[in-house]
Amino acid sequence: MRISDKFKEKSCVFSIEVFPPKKVGATVESLYPTLESLSKLNPDYISVTYGAGGGKASDATGTIAAHIKNDLHIESLAHLTCVNATKEQVEQTLATLKAENVENILALRGDINPEIPRQMDFVHASDLARTITQTGDFGVAGACYPEGHVESSSLKADVDNLHYKVEAGVTHLITQLFFDNISYYRFLNLTRKAGISLPVQAGIMPIVNKRQIQRTVALSSASLPPQFTKMIAKYDHDEQALFDAGIEYAVEQIRDLINGGADGIHLYAMNNERVAQRVYEGIRDLL
Ligand code: FAD
Repeated sequence: MRISDKFKEKSCVFSIEVFPPKKVGATVESLYPTLESLSKLNPDYISVTYGAGGGKASDATGTIAAHIKNDLHIESLAHLTCVNATKEQVEQTLATLKAENVENILALRGDINPEIPRQMDFVHASDLARTITQTGDFGVAGACYPEGHVESSSLKADVDNLHYKVEAGVTHLITQLFFDNISYYRFLNLTRKAGISLPVQAGIMPIVNKRQIQRTVALSSASLPPQFTKMIAKYDHDEQALFDAGIEYAVEQIRDLINGGADGIHLYAMNNERVAQRVYEGIRDLL
């Protein structure tokens, strides 16, 4: 099933993102118990990252997406980047995904890693999206940035560039993580004013431990509202309290977004089933 059809059926589409196991020697199958638990949270689909952070991509994304779709009977969305891929490699990946019965792809440019030679067959995500659409075999989603992409001169310029994704056949957008819902509402307003009417799923990452604060929050360009920084400062030295507060913050954020009419919620649960479960419990009455 195309994910675009889910947006026609439901007022709020709920999805969860996972990444292939990263530990050296870890098998793809080591993620399967987590996927089994996540499947019980009734997600409309589960997405699987591809070489995120400019790291090396592998076949694991397709294998996991196929397992979600064919064995767990949940729709999957395979992320695919093009920054390090030739047209031939992309065509090969698409053929493999089709053979594995994966029907939906998130078309991304990918982060530029100076250590991996950049290929120029596809310059932007929209070039990849067009190639995928032309096969006629997949539904295609795209990424967006409520506070503007880091390389864009302005938020408006970034929003205007979304027209390329629309023209290339993208049927829904998923946002980068953000901690201040005002960013989402402002972004949505700008996209609608620009004539872009695609559903925009809000990407939410619960921040539940210190490592995430050091890595994700420090590296993300997301602005931090005072209530978020206060929470971090207050529970900085209490692991369990920080976990609970981080879940509560994400739940409140999501409840406000759903009540505010968000087209969907995309949960960056970082392969943590406990986090996903707790967030789901806090929002299930609204889904
Ligand atoms: P693009 O759409 O190409 O945009 C990049 C920049 O170019 C933007 O500033 C944009 O405004 C500009 N631009 C776009 N089109 C044009 C044009 N035609 N002319 C001029 N300028 C243009 N990365 C991974 O490596 N693996 C993943 O699995 C992954 N998953 C992600 C999931 C989500 C939901 C999000 C939000 C991001 C994800 N990323 C992932 C990160 C993403 O690859 C990076 O943010 C990357 O820097 C940009 O990707 P993009 O697809 O938005 O690129």
